[in-house]
Amino acid sequence: MELSVEESRPRRSWVEDAMSEFRVIGHDAFLDKYAKGTPPRWVYLVHEGIEYPAKALWAAALSHGVTPTTTRGFKTGQGRAELERLGFIVFTERPGSDIIREAQVDLDQMESEGERHIREIGVLKRSAAIVAAAKRRSPLKCEVCDFDFEQTYGELGRGYIECHHIEPLNYRGGNSAPTRVGDLALLCANCHRMAHRKGQVVAVEDLRKHLRK
Ligand SMILES: [Zn+2]
Repeated sequence: MELSVEESRPRRSWVEDAMSEFRVIGHDAFLDKYAKGTPPRWVYLVHEGIEYPAKALWAAALSHGVTPTTTRGFKTGQGRAELERLGFIVFTERPGSDIIREAQVDLDQMESEGERHIREIGVLKRSAAIVAAAKRRSPLKCEVCDFDFEQTYGELGRGYIECHHIEPLNYRGGNSAPTRVGDLALLCANCHRMAHRKGQVVAVEDLRKHLRK
């Protein structure tokens, strides 16, 4: 794909917009939209603890920044090279192997960041009251691994825990519905990230099974 279109924004923000969309619509809908349902070919991009199918992500990034496209519009290696040039870590995870290749990242590479963008996607109303009610228990420990922020960080960690919607809010299709305290799980930051790995929600009981002490 030729990118002769004038670049009004840094491309990193296109990728970030694509990531937001992935988190909102979920893994399967994202692949339907940008890869015509084709499963990712072992090439993933990892960012802030979430794995994204790299080729579909680049198709989505181009769609946000230049023109609507799908993974058929360019070669996998092309998309990968663009993502790596922007400083993202892309790796290959072939089935049945533990080999993960991390990209060579140029630490001196610079991209401008920090400009304000107006985003329309991914803003779901959350209730601070229900979160506060869920946290009104003691001791405040991760329901998966028992991590206690206060025990580890002392005063700094007192009262800290993350609230996880057992059924993701985006399953509500943009409609408001009541949340009960029991609909929330209290998780440490690590377990919370793991619960959202690969854009799908891993159940709390299943996370416990993954845990290796
Ligand atoms: Zn935990």
